[in-house]
Amino acid sequence: MNKKLFLQTFGCQMNERDSEAVTGLLLGRGYESVASAEEADLVLYNTCSVRDHAEQKVFGRMGHFRKLKEKNPRVVIGIVGCMAQEHGHTFFKKNPDIDLVCGPGNLNQIPDLAEEIRETRLPRLATDRLSEEYSLEGIPHRSDKTKALVTIMTGCDHRCTYCIVPFVRGSERSRLSGNILTEMRNLAARGFKDVMLLGQNVNSYGKGLEEKIDFAGLLEKIQTAAPEIPRLRFITSHPKDAHARLFGAMKDLPMVCAHLHLPVQSGSDRILKRMKREHTAAWFIGQVEEYRSLVPQGSLTTDLIVGFPGETEKDFLETLALVERVEFDSAFIFQYSPRPGTPALKLADDVSQGEKDRRHQILLAAQRAISLKKNQALIGRTAEVLFESRSKKDAARYVGRTREFKRVVAFSQTPCVGEFHSVRIVGAADETLLGERVP
Ligand code: SF4
Repeated sequence: MNKKLFLQTFGCQMNERDSEAVTGLLLGRGYESVASAEEADLVLYNTCSVRDHAEQKVFGRMGHFRKLKEKNPRVVIGIVGCMAQEHGHTFFKKNPDIDLVCGPGNLNQIPDLAEEIRETRLPRLATDRLSEEYSLEGIPHRSDKTKALVTIMTGCDHRCTYCIVPFVRGSERSRLSGNILTEMRNLAARGFKDVMLLGQNVNSYGKGLEEKIDFAGLLEKIQTAAPEIPRLRFITSHPKDAHARLFGAMKDLPMVCAHLHLPVQSGSDRILKRMKREHTAAWFIGQVEEYRSLVPQGSLTTDLIVGFPGETEKDFLETLALVERVEFDSAFIFQYSPRPGTPALKLADDVSQGEKDRRHQILLAAQRAISLKKNQALIGRTAEVLFESRSKKDAARYVGRTREFKRVVAFSQTPCVGEFHSVRIVGAADETLLGERVP
C-alpha cells in the first residue's frame, strides 16, 4: 500500500525534533517522505501556539484540505503539536476534513492512529498524555548529518502571563539522564559535530527525577559519555534558574559552547511583575555580570517583548536602557500579541499598534547598532567555524557558525559543508561576520 508522508513543521526547534522523530517512526512503518501534500497519503502539520502569526498560517492551510480529499479520498489529514493540544476537538468542527488531532504528549501514537483512521475513516483525538513521560524516546532518525537536536525535558512550571506553553506542553518532565547519554553516545558514534539540547527551561532539568541531578550535572555527564562531539549547545534558559553552577560548567567543559540565550523580555520591573517573570531587571543584570565574569568570551542573546499591556513610555525606556547597558550580541524582539488561554488575555491590550511599531523599531535599531559594534570588534580575529550550508547568494561562499553562535559567511575554494575550518574575520554586519578560510 502506498504510504507517502508529508509533514510540515511550524514553530520552535522542539517541534523540529518532534517532527524528525515522528518521521523516523513512520519511515520505520514503511512510509516515505514526499515534498508536497498533494502527493501524500498522510498529511501532518506540526503546529505552534506561541504567536498568532504561526496559528494563522495553519488556519490558512486548512482551506486546502477539501481539495486534498477530492484528489485523494483516502488521504489522512492531521493537526499535531501545540495547536492540537490547545484547540483539541474544536478542530473537527472547524474543518470536517481533519481526521487526526494529536497533542505533543501523544506523538508516538501517530503511526497506529493513522492506520486506524485509514480503516475506520473515523476522526481521532489524542491529547490525553500531556503530563506523561517524553513519548519519543530512542528514535535515531535525523534529518541532518552534522547538527542534531536533543530534547532533554518538556513542559514548563513557570507561569509567564503572556505564554501558552505550560498549557500546551504541560508541566516540566525531564528525560532520564541514562536515556539522554545513550542518545548522545549514538550521535557521537555517527560523527555529529554540533548538538543542541532542548527544553522550554533546560535549567530546571532534573526536577522530579529520582536521580539527584541538575542541568550542570547533566552537562558534566555528557562531557564524559560523548567527548567526541565537538560542540554542545542548549536552549532555552529562564534567568530565574540560571546560575554560577551552569556558567561554571560552560567555562570548564570543553564541548560546551560559550553562547547563552537568556530571555529577559522587559527592562521594567513593573512589566516584569505583570509578566510574572519572577525577577527584577537589576537581578537579571547581576546574572549577566556573573556569566560574563565566568565566561568572558561568551556571547549572550535574548528575547524581548514590546507593547505588553500597560507598558508606558517610561517602562519602554527602561527596556531600552537595559538593552544599551547589557549589550546583547543579538535579540529576538517581538510585539505583544494577546494569546487565547493565557492569563495576560484578561489585561487590556492597551498599547496601540502604531505605538507597538514605534517601540519595536526603536529597540531594533538600538540592538542592531550594538550587534554591529560587537561584530566589528571581531574583525582581524580568527575563529573556528562549522560550515552548515552553501550561500544562497554566492556559490563560492559558505555559511557557518562560530562556537559563540555567530553567523559567518566565508569564501572557500573547495566545498566545506559539515567541516570545521579556521576563518579570518575580514568584515562585519549586524547579523553576520564575513570571512576568509585560513589555508
Ligand atoms: S518560562 Fe515563561 S515564557 Fe518560557 S515557556 Fe515557561 S511560561 Fe513560557
